[in-house]
Amino acid sequence: MTFSSIPRLSLAHTPTPLWRSDRLDELIGTRVWVKRDDMTAGAAAGNKIRKLEYLLAAAQAEGATVVLTCGAAQSNHARATALLCAQLGLRCELLLRTERPLRSESPGELSAALDEHRDCEPVVGNLLLDHLAGARVHWASPQSYRERSDWLRKRETELAARGERAFVIPEGGSSALGALGYVRAMQEVREQLDRGEAPGAPPCFDAVVHACGSGGTAAGCAVGAAAFGVAAAVIAVAVRADSEYFQGVIRTLCAGIAELAPDLPAPVPVSVPDRFIGPGYGSPGQEHRDLLAAAASGVGLVLDPAYSVKALLGLRQMPQQPDPALFLHTGGLPGLLAFGEALRLG
Ligand SMILES: *Cc1c(COP(=O)(O)O)cnc(C)c1O
Repeated sequence: MTFSSIPRLSLAHTPTPLWRSDRLDELIGTRVWVKRDDMTAGAAAGNKIRKLEYLLAAAQAEGATVVLTCGAAQSNHARATALLCAQLGLRCELLLRTERPLRSESPGELSAALDEHRDCEPVVGNLLLDHLAGARVHWASPQSYRERSDWLRKRETELAARGERAFVIPEGGSSALGALGYVRAMQEVREQLDRGEAPGAPPCFDAVVHACGSGGTAAGCAVGAAAFGVAAAVIAVAVRADSEYFQGVIRTLCAGIAELAPDLPAPVPVSVPDRFIGPGYGSPGQEHRDLLAAAASGVGLVLDPAYSVKALLGLRQMPQQPDPALFLHTGGLPGLLAFGEALRLG
């Protein structure tokens, strides 16, 4: 199939703005255009909706009645999936990871821990939206979560025995099919530049810069930047794991994209700096908190503490800054709001 003939649902509000601010340039130390993918929707906003346009089209084509996916307790991907399933009339089940003690969980018997959310994690932010969307939540300890693929397959079989047809989406929506959402986002940027929607923007950016959590956005941007001449490189700032791990993941996803759409070119070079993670996944350090506050109060740009602020810190601190840079704001507002007091500044 060719790229443009692969089935896709129209779910995101696009094109998202190409936004810039002199004060942001000053704060970061280079010229930055911000692709506002935090504005792809209302409650379902963020980068995952672009991947889900392809993934949920495939789910519908297969006649799925229920979608299964997984992530952290405050997963933006899980929340976007839950809300979009509600919109499309699909059931949704989420396998979420928690470090809090579970009342009952024997290995391989995750279903035993069903629907104990009130004992597990505060129902705020993304998790609140998961529940409002009517998603069924299954909890897993970090140890059980490592076997999530087995669990998802097992759950699919259980549901099939009840006459349901499940469609399984991997963590972060990061399959080659999902990554096509960011090939398409790069096409959108090309069209915006050609229409003159970003006065002063160059015909081609030095690099696309974004937060990297499961690799799909990086792979899609790398192929899309090459296909549509949007940027010479992708800088995918790791928010977990290391550079070598992500290079492998991104290579595999790019190979998968080439199989799905042989008309697309090879990706532009991708680098994955892994020095900006701070204390750990989902956890911001002091520098992240300071930049989050500075961007919000000085520029009116609200970032999230798990992803976008780490990418922006990377852009600010990297020794050879791309100039001009296209910074992809990938969303994450519900996760920020779930921090509450824990992020109180000063
Ligand atoms: C998931 C997510 C990312 C990372 O995208 P991947 O494709 O998983 O690498 C970045 N920012 C936010 C806000 C996200 O929710």
